Amino acid sequence: MSARLLNGNEIRDQIKAEVARDLAHLREAGICPGLSVILVGNDPASEIYTRNKSKTCKELGMFSERIELPSTITTEELLERVNDLNRRDEVDGILVQLPLPKQVDSKKVLLAVDPVKDVDGFHPINVGNLVTGRPGLVPCTPSGIIEILNRSQIPIEGARAVVIGRSDIVGKPIALLLMHRNATVTICHSKTRDLPGVCREADILVAALGKPGMVTAEFVKPGATVIDVGIGQLTRREDVERFFPGNEKKMKDFEAKGSTLIGDVDPSTVIPVAGALTPVPGGVGPLTIAMLMVNTVRAARLRRAPQLAPVPSA
Ligand code: NAD
Repeated sequence: MSARLLNGNEIRDQIKAEVARDLAHLREAGICPGLSVILVGNDPASEIYTRNKSKTCKELGMFSERIELPSTITTEELLERVNDLNRRDEVDGILVQLPLPKQVDSKKVLLAVDPVKDVDGFHPINVGNLVTGRPGLVPCTPSGIIEILNRSQIPIEGARAVVIGRSDIVGKPIALLLMHRNATVTICHSKTRDLPGVCREADILVAALGKPGMVTAEFVKPGATVIDVGIGQLTRREDVERFFPGNEKKMKDFEAKGSTLIGDVDPSTVIPVAGALTPVPGGVGPLTIAMLMVNTVRAARLRRAPQLAPVPSA
């Protein structure tokens, strides 16, 4: 057996096309949704993420701006910038790229974002909406995972789902979304006993632990769907050979860059056992930005045109 690879790029393109149609509809009503992204300091990964977010907005003809602030900024100064964005009517979505520098109180900053503009879905009001199943803004990576499952015709209702990881950004919200769709959900973490045994009960296994290649065949029930959320790097040739045996493309990528991407799943052992797997790259990753676009349009509708069309709930 060999797992079906779930193509996140294709699903992202479908969603972007839907967002483009939605944007055209809003423009007819005189509304041009806009996203503001705050980037503090010059963390290279954050620079790439924020650039890609702005690029996607532009592709879709959505207003976007990237506000670059120095790494020496204080919490109070950053709060002022967030409040400026809260007040600006043409800004529908505010995203503060994490991580923030150590001297900044990240929780305070995320709490300052107006919940109706909180396109990351991290504000406690939106977390509460998610927990209680009310419409609101849902974190992008978890809602992208639901899109992958739905659009790949993988049934959620009644399924046993196991989520490895309990972060606020991925683990907890994806567990809630799966539970709301009537899966029976178990959340695992670094203190879980017999992690492989618990994971082997899963029809849907979500790996969001941030440990490159840790999820092996031993964790996977034959035929299960495995969603790999991890984004890790391999920097040693022997690891590339171990996780991607005979994969020339991966080896070339490693030789060109000195590293290559890997998720939390070991594809060499999981592909022969699983029924379906999201690859890294090209699985969950592309959905995160697509869902940010969906959230920005949803935020614009909720705030500026609630009468225009019903906003689907989480
Ligand atoms: P995190 O570090 O905040 O949380 C990791 C979780 O995994 C914790 O709850 C911890 O208890 C659990 N964990 C750690 N080691 C474990 C172990 N050995 N066994 C069982 N559980 C263990 O990470 P996060 O922000 O949730 O991100 C997880 C991964 O997903 C990272 O690789 C991150 O880069 C990636 N990520 C990808 C996207 C995307 O768009 N594809 C978005 C967000 C995060």
